[in-house]
Amino acid sequence: MPGPQLPMTIRSFRLRLTAWYLLLFSLLFVAFSVFLYGALSNGLRERVDETLRSEAGTAAGMYEDELSETNGDRPASAAEAVAGARFTGTVVAVVAEGRVLAASTRAPLGDLAAVAARAAGAGADAVTAFPQYGKHGARAAARRAGQPGRQVLVLALAPLDSIASELSAVRRALFVALPLMLGLAGLGGFLLATRGLAPLAWMARQSHQIGAGSLHKRLEIGGAAEELQVLAASFNALLARLDQSFETMRRFVADASHELRTPLAVIRGEADVALTRPRGAEEYRESLSVILDESRRLSRLVDDLLNLARADAGHVPLVLREFYFNDLLAECCRSAQPAAAARGIELACLAPADAPFRGDEDLLRRLLMNLLDNAIRYTPQGGHVSAALEPSPERIQVRISDTGTGIAPQDAARVFERFYRADRARSRQDGGFGLGLSIVQWIAEAHRGTVELSSQPGVGSVFTVTLPI
Ligand code: ADP
Repeated sequence: MPGPQLPMTIRSFRLRLTAWYLLLFSLLFVAFSVFLYGALSNGLRERVDETLRSEAGTAAGMYEDELSETNGDRPASAAEAVAGARFTGTVVAVVAEGRVLAASTRAPLGDLAAVAARAAGAGADAVTAFPQYGKHGARAAARRAGQPGRQVLVLALAPLDSIASELSAVRRALFVALPLMLGLAGLGGFLLATRGLAPLAWMARQSHQIGAGSLHKRLEIGGAAEELQVLAASFNALLARLDQSFETMRRFVADASHELRTPLAVIRGEADVALTRPRGAEEYRESLSVILDESRRLSRLVDDLLNLARADAGHVPLVLREFYFNDLLAECCRSAQPAAAARGIELACLAPADAPFRGDEDLLRRLLMNLLDNAIRYTPQGGHVSAALEPSPERIQVRISDTGTGIAPQDAARVFERFYRADRARSRQDGGFGLGLSIVQWIAEAHRGTVELSSQPGVGSVFTVTLPI
C-alpha cells in the first residue's frame, strides 16, 4: 500500500522519513515559538500594568497627604507626588483642568493632559493602551485625587520601548535558533532513519544470496526491531514453503524420470534383441506385442503426469453438469466386472436410489475406476469388492471396500503421495505407478470433497469419498 505522498515525490524511503521528521519538527518548533512569544509578551505587559496601577495609587495617596499638609497647595503637593517616580521608568504627572501641574520628567512626552483624561475615563483600575504614543506605544493608568471640586488627575504612564526591545531580542534569538534547530533535526532524522532502516538493507543483502539452489538458507535478523523480525519471520516462512515445493517438484521429476526409464528400457531392449538377427513372423509379433504393452503403460503414465501437472498449475477446468451418481457408479462397476471376474473376485455394486449430482462426470468416472481398479488389483482370488453409494441431501458418499491385502498404518498416511507404493515390487508388476490415489485425491478436492482410508493389513481396505452437493 503506498504511503501518503509528499508534494514532490521522494523515492528514497530514508529521505522521505527524514522529510516527514523535519516537517513535523518545524511545525512543532514554530508552534512552540509562537506560544512562547505570546506568553512572554503577555507577561511583560501585565507586569507593566501592575506597576502602573500601583504607581498611580501611590502618587495619588502622596498628593492627598501633601495637600492636607500644605493646606490645599496643589502645585506644591503635585511636585511632591511626582518626585518619588523620578528615578523609575514610569512617568508620573499630575494634571488639573487640562494643565500639567507637575511631571516626573522634563522630556517632551506629548499631550499628557489629554492622555490623563482618557485614561481616567476608562475607570479607576483600568490600564489604557496608547499605541500611537512614542515609538512603540505606551500604557497608562490614572486616579482622581483631591477635594471634590478641586480634583486633579494623577497619571502613571509607561512607554513600551523597553518591552519592545526585550521582545525583539527574543524574536532575534528564535530566528537564529530556527535554522540551527532544523539543521540538527534534519541530521538527527536522517541518522535515525538510516539506523532504523539498516536491518532492511541487511535483509536485502542476505536475500540476494538466496537462490534456487540455496532455499534452505534463512534470513538472520538478530536483535532487530520487532516489526522487522515479523517481516523476516514471514520471509523465512515463505522460503520454507518454497523450499518444500521445490523439493516436492525435484522428487516428482526424479520419480517421473525413473518411472519413464523402465518401459523405455524394455521397449529398447525388445527392439534391440529383435533386430540382432532375422527372425520369424511369430517372434516379431511377440516382440511387437511387448513393445505395444509397454507403450500403453508409457502413455498411461504420461497422461497421468500431464493431468497432475495441469492440476498443479490449476489448468484443469471442471466441466460441470447434472447427472445421476448411481448411474455413473453402476457403469463403472460394469466396466470393472471383467477384470474382477478374471481374478475370481466377486464385485458388488450398491446404488439403491436416484442420486442426482452436479460435477465433472469424466473426472469422477476416473476417480471411481481408480479406486475399483486398486481394490481388484490388491485383493486376492476369491475375495470381495463392493462399491456402495450413500446419498443424502447435503452430500454424496461412496464407499469402496475390499477384502484384500490392506495397507499398513505407516503406509496409510502416504499412499496419497505421488509415486508412493506400499509394496513397490508388487504394485509395479501389477502395473501401477503410484499415481492413482494422488489423482483420486485431486479429483475429490477439486469437487470440494475428501477421500478417507481405513484399512487393516490382511483384512481389507475401505476408501470413502465424500462430495458435498
Ligand atoms: P498404484 O498405481 O501403485 O496402485 P496408487 O496411488 O493407486 O498407485 O496406490 C498407491 C499404493 O497404495 C499402492 O501401491 C498400494 O500399495 C496401495 N493401495 C492402494 N489401494 C489399495 C487397496 N485397495 N488395497 C491395498 N493397497 C492399496
